[in-house]
Amino acid sequence: MEEKQSEVKKEYKCKYCGEVFGKPLLLAHHVRAKHKRAKKREKKGLSVEKMSEQINKTIEAIGILKGLQVSPHLSDEEKKVLGDVSKRIEELLAFIQKSK
Ligand SMILES: [Zn+2]
Repeated sequence: MEEKQSEVKKEYKCKYCGEVFGKPLLLAHHVRAKHKRAKKREKKGLSVEKMSEQINKTIEAIGILKGLQVSPHLSDEEKKVLGDVSKRIEELLAFIQKSK
């Protein structure tokens, strides 16, 4: 059993293209050379997508806060707090959109 196991060559498969290497070092070199840029691009695309999704949700949240602010059931103090909070979120949103 042990002999058989040593016969089996260890393989290191690239998770991006499926190419097989005999040594982990070779695989690492391969990934660095062939896939690093692609991986980065993929990541960036994903974060931009997530970011705009997040911004849309935030805009929605501001809308909800502003809707609540005109509710007749709130005290002036509560309305002021809601106003402050939505203003803070709006400022953050403007900042994020500027730096995008
Ligand atoms: Zn590969």
